[in-house]
Amino acid sequence: MGAITLTKLYDSEQLKHDIYKLSEHYDFIKVHTIGYSVLGEPLLELKIGEGDKRVHWNGAFHANEWITTPLLLKVVEEYAEGIIHGRQLEKELFSSTRLSVVPMVNPDGVNLFMHGSEIAKAYKDLVNKANHNHVNFTSWKANIRGVDLNNQFPAHWEVEKQRKPQDPNFRDYPGEKPLSEPESKAIYDLTQKSSFHRVLAFHSQGEVIYWGYQNKEPSQAKSIVGAFQAVSGYEPVHTIDSYAGYKDWFIQDYKREGYTVEVGKGINPLPWSTFNDHLKKVKPICFKSMEM
Ligand SMILES: [Zn+2]
Repeated sequence: MGAITLTKLYDSEQLKHDIYKLSEHYDFIKVHTIGYSVLGEPLLELKIGEGDKRVHWNGAFHANEWITTPLLLKVVEEYAEGIIHGRQLEKELFSSTRLSVVPMVNPDGVNLFMHGSEIAKAYKDLVNKANHNHVNFTSWKANIRGVDLNNQFPAHWEVEKQRKPQDPNFRDYPGEKPLSEPESKAIYDLTQKSSFHRVLAFHSQGEVIYWGYQNKEPSQAKSIVGAFQAVSGYEPVHTIDSYAGYKDWFIQDYKREGYTVEVGKGINPLPWSTFNDHLKKVKPICFKSMEM
């Protein structure tokens, strides 16, 4: 049917509209608000399924990686269509898995990318300074206070704090303290109360999947990431010199599987014309994350 509006102006209004349409059309898709952004945008979670295996996906932690939002929603829609049509795989996944999806972790940042500093309200001067007075925000990754939301988690945050920008910036600034921002705190709280068995954070770009953190990941992570590679061609990378990310904290605290999936290859933002190429690789990764 096509509830998802495939547009390169995928801002938070579009997201709310599409989520409303999805939940109206598929009554088994439940929508929850897990918190609010700095500018008061709802942080929306979709839940599907009745099983015991708890899997979580999220997208658009980083503003100029917003293409991950419509990608995840399109996968959700195709999954829901499969359930409606009684397809075997989707029916089995529905009864075995409880899926949680937060498609846009950073709505203010995405809106800033799309519409410029006019939407920043009280933070207009801050974002212009943090953007080094560039007129466009195509390189912007942070939230509206210039904090990098994926540099905010309590997993050797101090290391990043010391070596990354010391002030609000379009990328990489870890903030005053871990979880100082409502968006990272909302994902943290959701994760704490949901007991996810496996989490996948979708970013761009590189066509790689990071799957380890300080050797605290469970042993099955290696074979699972191998399965992701088999269906997508994305290259597994065990670890890099990076801390304080969502999946780092998840692996560290829960000793469960956490993956950062870097969608596509090129320069962010990935061109909208490449959406379908990414969908062909992201969808099988998403399905595998529920199947295995
Ligand atoms: Zn990213």
